[in-house]
Amino acid sequence: MLIGVNWFVELVVGKYNGSGFEIQAQSNSFMTRHPYQYIYGPVASWRLGRSLGIDPLSTDQKTCSFDCVYCQTGRTKVLTLERKIFVPTEALLEEVRRVPPEPLDVVTFAGNGEPTLALNLGDMIRGIRTVRSERIVVITNGSLIWRPDVREDLALADFVMVKLDAGSSDSLEAVNHPAEGIGFEEICEGLRMFRKNYHGKLALQIMFVSSNKDLVADIVSRAQMIHPDEIEVNTPLRVCAVKPLTAEEMVPITDLFRKTFTRIPVKSVYEEERKKSQPYCRQSTDRRRGQELP
Ligand code: SF4
Repeated sequence: MLIGVNWFVELVVGKYNGSGFEIQAQSNSFMTRHPYQYIYGPVASWRLGRSLGIDPLSTDQKTCSFDCVYCQTGRTKVLTLERKIFVPTEALLEEVRRVPPEPLDVVTFAGNGEPTLALNLGDMIRGIRTVRSERIVVITNGSLIWRPDVREDLALADFVMVKLDAGSSDSLEAVNHPAEGIGFEEICEGLRMFRKNYHGKLALQIMFVSSNKDLVADIVSRAQMIHPDEIEVNTPLRVCAVKPLTAEEMVPITDLFRKTFTRIPVKSVYEEERKKSQPYCRQSTDRRRGQELP
């Protein structure tokens, strides 16, 4: 008895148990064959709205150039700076073509690892533009932005959100645990060069935890050199290895950014509405996003 159909083609059957029918939900082969490998969501992002996630690495082992203390997807298993092709561009585009034709706000490259490690990031962005009309966002930790090829790829996006949790080499080590060969000054210089030539929107996203909450002045002064279009002040509200700062602790931090950056939006996570979303595939989405704190 087929009584319910959603995008995943859920098959609902009745089974006689002696006194009546009990309803059982089963999955057909379409459902059990995991529908998406490289995309996830849509997620309800406090910064971006309804966002279709693209994971250009999609590795089983979390691969990143950082191993941040607050990472919502756990410890980095492969800590690397090597750019390579993880997912063939055409395989990703085949999945994007299968996304239901419903409104989204953005398509966002992020996922479980650092998206600029994907050597074909630029090809992927170009390819998605042929399939979807939404703005394309890349969320990056900025660790490879000193490379001209990475800046070229990022420049294809409409909106780039770059992490800046540190105000010095020492704090980069303490908070982000970068792969060997990444220098704080190189990242800052790469960011300045990117800003000079990039005509899209550039946001700095700064995650505050106990180990960098006293370094706000240093981070503000670095951020001033980059001239972002927006600042996002954050603390981890998803399950991770460290505690978030409280709303009260975030107030003076946000205030200092607002006093310094009077002409651009300074958004703070506690002030934004946290919306719920209904992802196409929960499993694939939780793997990239982790779980929200209760
Ligand atoms: S938070 Fe982002 S940059 Fe940091 S380890 Fe996790 S995936 Fe990598």
